[in-house]
Amino acid sequence: LPPAPRRPIRELPDELISQIAAGEVVERPASVVRELLDNALDAGARQITVRLAAGGVRLISVEDDGQGLPRDELPLALRRHATSKIASLDDLETVGTMGFRGEALAAINAIAEMSIQSRAAGADGAFALDGRTGELRPVARGPGTTVEVRELFFATPARRKFLKTDATELAHCIEAVRRHALARPEVGFAVWHDGRLVEQWRGAEVRDQRLADTLGDDFVAQSVTVEHTAGPVRVTGRAGIPDAARSRADQQFFYVNGRFVRDKVLAHAVRSAYEDVLHGQRQPVYVLHLEIDPARVDVNVHPTKIEVRFRDGREVHQAVRHAIENALAAPRAGEAASPAS
Ligand code: ADP
Ligand code: MG
Repeated sequence: LPPAPRRPIRELPDELISQIAAGEVVERPASVVRELLDNALDAGARQITVRLAAGGVRLISVEDDGQGLPRDELPLALRRHATSKIASLDDLETVGTMGFRGEALAAINAIAEMSIQSRAAGADGAFALDGRTGELRPVARGPGTTVEVRELFFATPARRKFLKTDATELAHCIEAVRRHALARPEVGFAVWHDGRLVEQWRGAEVRDQRLADTLGDDFVAQSVTVEHTAGPVRVTGRAGIPDAARSRADQQFFYVNGRFVRDKVLAHAVRSAYEDVLHGQRQPVYVLHLEIDPARVDVNVHPTKIEVRFRDGREVHQAVRHAIENALAAPRAGEAASPAS
């Protein structure tokens, strides 16, 4: 084919820029759920209610009781690269919030119909912002924020075609909530789908209670406590005993400073810890939390922040591996110590 005639360079319109950027952030309804939950948790919510219709494609609404947004800032929340969470490069290197890129709401607004209702802590009124028209109007509500997202991908039919059945999209949405719920046991979560309550996890005082609520009593009964500190790295949580391993890798949760991540270094460290006790394709179950100085890990690798980069991968690998190996080797409560062999 002859090359197409060259067209002049032009700057893309803002809306198209946002739609392109949205492709990286929002893959499916569950991506929206994840972003809205991050925002609710960053706002200090103690109770979060997620309402979905048709697997999240028709409606995703996330209601929180967090600190809210003042009227004047509502329009800013929808602007690209507008955030209350960082202000400088220094802030970026020590960021402790889930969000910081100021992209999610702008991205979602570019590919769905969105509205935000909020009442800021201490404010005497609440306001709703329509994402399409920019119209602001007073509403009645208690403190906190509700973000409503309707008709996801209505403007980008190519993306819409990749969606699976409502049941599959719902399952992904629930998984997104579960990931957040495991990170934050003190926060209550409820999920409604098509008017039915499908999951409810009450705020729990202790992590193990939340583990039992979200993953089942068996998970707790068949796992051991992990607690290990190596220099600047601390690893806590629970690792399943070999007998609890499954054929599918569907109960593997790793958090870095409270953020759910998928990482090659961590995955490899876990696999090597189980190397001698798990055989074939059996998948260990675990919920592990790594705490590390934020300056030693870069979370700004990908817009979804599910990938991280460690400054010293070896240090982290060793800490994780030892944490699990030690936990699996320790005698379990209620069991006689096995004789050394
Ligand atoms: P980011 O989370 O990276 O800052 P977002 O686009 O997700 O970017 O949100 C933009 C801003 O809107 C946030 O920085 C925050 O100030 C505000 N915001 C979003 N959601 C909420 C919420 N649920 N409660 C309070 N403020 C919120
Ligand atoms: Mg955000």
